[in-house]
Amino acid sequence: MPHSVPVAVPTPAHSAVGGLLTYASEQPLAPGALVRVPLGSREMLGVVWDGPAPAMPAGMAPRAVAGVLDGLPPLGASWRQLATFTARYYQRGLGEVALAALPPQLRGLSAAQLARRLQRRAAGAPATDAAGLQALPPLTPEQAAALARIAEGGGPFLLFGATGSGKTEVYLRCVQRLLATEPGAQALVMVPEINLTPQLEARFTARFGADAVVSLHSGMSNPQRLKSWLAAHAGAARIVLGTRMAVFASLPRLRLIVVDEEHDPSYKQQEGARYSARDLAVWRGHTEGATVVLGSATPSLESWHHSRPPASHAPTDPGGRYVRLAMPARVGAGALPRVRLVDMNQQPRNTLFSAPLLAAVRERIARGEQAMVLLNRRGYAPVLHCVDCGWKSDCPHCSAYQVFHKADRTLRCHHCGFTQRVPRACPSCGNLDIAPLGRGTERLEEHLAELLADARRPDGMPVRIARIDADSTRAKGALQAHLAAVHDGSVDVLVGTQMIAKGHDFRRITLVTAVNPDGALFSSDFRAAERLFSLLMQAGGRAGRDAAFMAARAAQGTAAELWVQTAHPGHPLFAALRSHDYPAFAAQQLAERAAAAMPPFAYQALVRAEARTQEVAQGFLGAAAAQAGGLPGAAQVTLYPAVPMAVQRVADIERAQMLVESPSRAALQQLLAAWQDALHALRADPAHRGLVRWAIDVDPLAI
Ligand code: ADP
Ligand code: ZN
Ligand code: ZN
Repeated sequence: MPHSVPVAVPTPAHSAVGGLLTYASEQPLAPGALVRVPLGSREMLGVVWDGPAPAMPAGMAPRAVAGVLDGLPPLGASWRQLATFTARYYQRGLGEVALAALPPQLRGLSAAQLARRLQRRAAGAPATDAAGLQALPPLTPEQAAALARIAEGGGPFLLFGATGSGKTEVYLRCVQRLLATEPGAQALVMVPEINLTPQLEARFTARFGADAVVSLHSGMSNPQRLKSWLAAHAGAARIVLGTRMAVFASLPRLRLIVVDEEHDPSYKQQEGARYSARDLAVWRGHTEGATVVLGSATPSLESWHHSRPPASHAPTDPGGRYVRLAMPARVGAGALPRVRLVDMNQQPRNTLFSAPLLAAVRERIARGEQAMVLLNRRGYAPVLHCVDCGWKSDCPHCSAYQVFHKADRTLRCHHCGFTQRVPRACPSCGNLDIAPLGRGTERLEEHLAELLADARRPDGMPVRIARIDADSTRAKGALQAHLAAVHDGSVDVLVGTQMIAKGHDFRRITLVTAVNPDGALFSSDFRAAERLFSLLMQAGGRAGRDAAFMAARAAQGTAAELWVQTAHPGHPLFAALRSHDYPAFAAQQLAERAAAAMPPFAYQALVRAEARTQEVAQGFLGAAAAQAGGLPGAAQVTLYPAVPMAVQRVADIERAQMLVESPSRAALQQLLAAWQDALHALRADPAHRGLVRWAIDVDPLAI
């Protein structure tokens, strides 16, 4: 009599079975075992799951398991719990979530191939617990206090440390202590974008040895990813350093989770299961008994609120459940950058680079220091237009403009990727005078090169400008080369998008400037101010990081500065920025959010629909809303009318969304869970069949 086993398989995202199918096996199979099973006409990787196998429809017998990847220890109960929670919380199929969390190459391997991989790995040098404790700088008092508190246990901890306060050193010491005190224990260290911070990887391998550390991120080849994953799963890798996907790493002895720059939006996955790796890290730490350390100089308002002291918000408020640890000072008595605002109302119209700012940049160059120029828009100009007839470079497939890229004379849509040669004349009236409108990093770099053509470095050489954005770093190794040039001082001015603001430990930058950040002050997105404040603080944090360098130059008048050009110098955001007062900024934002009942005082989800027309997409959402009324949880949930998305059409598909909001997370979850079946049924309805795609985004970051 064969055994019936439940197996998680990647059934299509919206199949109602939830991803668990029943298979027959001659021998009993442990939950967590990896198997190959037939699905339709294909064979798939699946994971044996817990509990009874789903009942088969009458008259049908389960198909047989095709093979077992024995030799590999089964995925642990806590890993299975994590996958189950993720699928339920983010409203996706269990099989889809579980299989997407495994390295892609595992899907194609036979048991024999896998056995060979495992042998090869086992032959490698064993990881050691010996960490280089000698060669280390003494901790600052703030670092020591934070570490001591973390060592007491509890948490989750929010390490609220200024830029350059030495947060990374705290993470390193937490890991070090763990490895020294708990044999075999593992640590997960997450960063927003690992490619942006090769330095961090170097610091971890320098401290713990290359064998103890593995990386997990999407920039790796599939064989590399499999190798890292196997090392973590087998317990040989003691430290996993990775991006958001690493939150799903199989770590049988996980004891510590660090989420660096926890405020960073890239922790949120934006397709498939739209999970927040930061939030899952907190959940995982809680269920697995691992210490969680979230770090940031500008925490998300959610984490800030969760770490509020008692009674800060209301007399009866017991406080948040996170423990806030503050490190306000920079290492080595370094000063945070002085903030200067340039009132653009006092400058000639259409000035991109004000005269005082240009003078400040020249001064830096003459002294052999570096300057950084931030403009969060890539390309040469966001639009090309005809001065005669008003034609603009619309994308034919999206409700967006095609961006002008001068280097390769193309118009490119940043939403659908549609690319065209720049037309010689206006496609609408034939006028030869078509001109770029607005500015991107490419144009800024060109403009700066002109403005600084006669500026000289102390060695008499002309100024060198580098640009870092998604375009200039597309080629393999280009980003590393650019960063290396900044680090070794061969670049004087670094121009770039938010990529240059993140985490870099630059030593000789003394001036950072945001040339045109005003757009975000009046955005319809309620999180825009939060994102702008953190971007400016993080960017400013790249200036004056090396206290010894700054001290040695003080006599020449060098000070670290952040310059912001704005037409709204009186905006309260800038007042808080000037005094580096994140708590004041957060308090003001949270008061607004509380008054408007917005996150973190309310919980949100978006139901999105895509179709050929807005009518069909919105019609689907309207019908879905009509069904939600009587469902459990509905009484505490507000459904807003369906509206077109901000970028309404992408690649010829119309997109609409409906905001769903509740003061109770439980009520929202209850409704969403019950709603799933209705949505599946609705989509199968003849009125919508084949016409609509839908998805739910729980805790969306942009609405
Ligand atoms: P953060 O992540 O908070 O911005 P880092 O951890 O990168 O800051 O630290 C900033 C700089 O200070 C780094 O170059 C680091 O090597 C150095 N540093 C950190 N802790 C100490 C310490 N206790 N003594 C001396 N230098 C330190
Ligand atoms: Zn024209
Ligand atoms: Zn497009």
